[in-house]
Amino acid sequence: MESLGCGCKICKAGFGDTVNEMIFGQIEPVAVLRFLDSKGCKVSDKLLRKHLSAFSIHYPEKEKELNRLVLKPVPNNVTDINFDEYKIDLSNPEITLELLQKITLKVFVNQSRITLEAQRKVIEGEALDMPKETMRNYATALDMLDKCTGLSVTVNQQKAIQTVEAMGLTIQNTIQNVQN
Ligand SMILES: [Zn+2]
Repeated sequence: MESLGCGCKICKAGFGDTVNEMIFGQIEPVAVLRFLDSKGCKVSDKLLRKHLSAFSIHYPEKEKELNRLVLKPVPNNVTDINFDEYKIDLSNPEITLELLQKITLKVFVNQSRITLEAQRKVIEGEALDMPKETMRNYATALDMLDKCTGLSVTVNQQKAIQTVEAMGLTIQNTIQNVQN
């Protein structure tokens, strides 16, 4: 005859030793609870913990899952970056710059699409206002493109003229021929 064990509901139902053996046999607590339930002995996880602790049995925490959540540092091996897939000659600064400009232009165009979509929603009454992040990201993308291409100088001819004049040069009317 089985002893009453710790006197909990599990023990009273006669499953005390079985449960202990299951836990020793690496059966997950969830499965143990399911087993008990199938035997008409529905108990809570809390009660199972209480029962195991009465027998000084360690309640198996999901250590594997906990370990998986541990953040690992991202390796920062800048020298290991493989540029082969970009088909660029890093010894040629012009090609490198061109690639940088193309990448930045693509970032800007993509961000423009996002911004335009957000604007469309406002215009058509689907949204109350432009999301601040969208506008901020657009401004950042434009700023990056400008830094990368000197766009503002090109776009703002007045500014370009000022820049050239500040260099001590004079602008002649033939400058229009330079445009495209
Ligand atoms: Zn018990």
